[in-house]
Amino acid sequence: MVTCNNFIGGEFVPPTGEQYMDVTSPHNGKVCAKVALSTKADVDAAVERAKAALPGWRALTIKTRTAALFKLHHLIQENAEELAKLATLENGKTFNESLASVAKGNETVEWACSLPQMANGRILQVSRGVMCQDQLDPVGVVGCIVPFNFPIMVPMWTTPIALGVGNCVILKPSEKCPMTMTRVAELIKQAGIPDGVFQIVQGAIPVVEQICDNSDIKAVTFVGSSKVAEIVYKRCHNLGKKIISLGGAKNHLIALPDCDTQMAAQDITASFCGCAGQRCMAASALITVGDQPELLEAVIAKAKTLEPGQNPGQMGPVIDTQAQQRIIGFIDEAEKGGAKILLDGRSWASREGSWVGPTVILHTNPADRALHHEIFGPVISVLKVSSREEAIEIENKCPYGNAACVYTSSGGAANWFSERFRAGMIGINIGVPVPREPFSFGGMYDTLSKFGEHDITGEGAMRFFTTRKKITTKWSKFEMTSTTHSDVVAKEFIN
Ligand code: NAD
Repeated sequence: MVTCNNFIGGEFVPPTGEQYMDVTSPHNGKVCAKVALSTKADVDAAVERAKAALPGWRALTIKTRTAALFKLHHLIQENAEELAKLATLENGKTFNESLASVAKGNETVEWACSLPQMANGRILQVSRGVMCQDQLDPVGVVGCIVPFNFPIMVPMWTTPIALGVGNCVILKPSEKCPMTMTRVAELIKQAGIPDGVFQIVQGAIPVVEQICDNSDIKAVTFVGSSKVAEIVYKRCHNLGKKIISLGGAKNHLIALPDCDTQMAAQDITASFCGCAGQRCMAASALITVGDQPELLEAVIAKAKTLEPGQNPGQMGPVIDTQAQQRIIGFIDEAEKGGAKILLDGRSWASREGSWVGPTVILHTNPADRALHHEIFGPVISVLKVSSREEAIEIENKCPYGNAACVYTSSGGAANWFSERFRAGMIGINIGVPVPREPFSFGGMYDTLSKFGEHDITGEGAMRFFTTRKKITTKWSKFEMTSTTHSDVVAKEFIN
């Protein structure tokens, strides 16, 4: 039995309260690990070690710090299969999905390796002999709180960038999926990142509260559901901390009559069924402009080919039976309200573990709850509208703002939609429009998908994890005594 302890000061240590919780695999509901349930004392201990490590780490040149990230990138690549197996075991993704998520997380490490070229300040002669420059300093000790659905990719959005610019990171993984990052902690140590610079405090809500409240933690990133994202945002903001808090999503895919039916069907199915629909970029509402029976038939035909399992061509379970029941609740309610269940994934629920199969719901009532709430499972809600204006109005009214997509073969129509979508990440014939670095990841500010201004990766994260110091310099006049031609010319010019 694997025990996921805290990683404090470069060592795995049990929580001071010696409390643990079972971690169960969604594949079969069986216990696959124990995770530490930490308390204030554990967070305080990690913060003290981080404070002690900070001066040495921030004093290194950025090139030295990123040299360790190069090693980490290599180690993650070398151990990708092992990491993917852990993510599959604890999260339920298929092995290929887990492998892809390891690679995607490592993309941010790769971007962070370029920080020496990115995190440099500007310099300007502002008047004769007076120079003004700015420099990006680390914020200090930072906390990163992550959800269950991407056990390695989401922690890797922030960790390498925060480390690269000179911060010490305290990570709180999801208590549902603590195993993958426990293994990554070993790789981080192996990469040469000093003890105390990267630490893990395992646990649940009390750890989050302590990370928010500890005054020595200067910045916090949160990724999770909108309800908690808002709580964490407000708690940190009220204490004057830097905070970026990403929440949930309800992503709209709009299919125009001129779309490439087969391509769109393939893409829509991959978007709502990939990772069993448990990703903040998953398709959730499909709005067809006009009747599109061929598209729906093709989506259903493709989704029907998916079998439950971990292999290519299969789909994994959802995280736990609580999630399974929530998802089934949405399907039941839609059916009772008169919606047609064109493909019913409830039949998978009798299997051992927590399974829901691909589900396609055809709505006629635009007020149905399934059309407006995040279901976070392999369910797509379809609604027919009669015009593109009606379609965009539905997307614009949605309180979330993560992703949106239009399927069309018209460039003009694509532009029309991308100018009007409210969501922060837009796909044109792409159902999961995750921007690759250097394009930062993040939904639209001032929606339930993002609280706080910065994006969580790329340049946005670099700004978030640094403070800008402005330095103005003047030296006493340098009297030139030499008589070379260029000195004489320079002296005449200056005087
Ligand atoms: P969650 O909000 O339940 O948990 C996220 C983290 O917060 C976990 O570490 C958990 O321990 C902690 N937590 C849970 N309840 C808390 C509370 N009341 N107070 C303080 N901390 C609490 O989210 P989840 O179920 O782990 O993840 C799924 C959600 O994350 C979905 O809504 C999904 O859309 C969202 N998500 C968003 C993004 C994005 O980029 N916007 C990315 C991935 C996941």
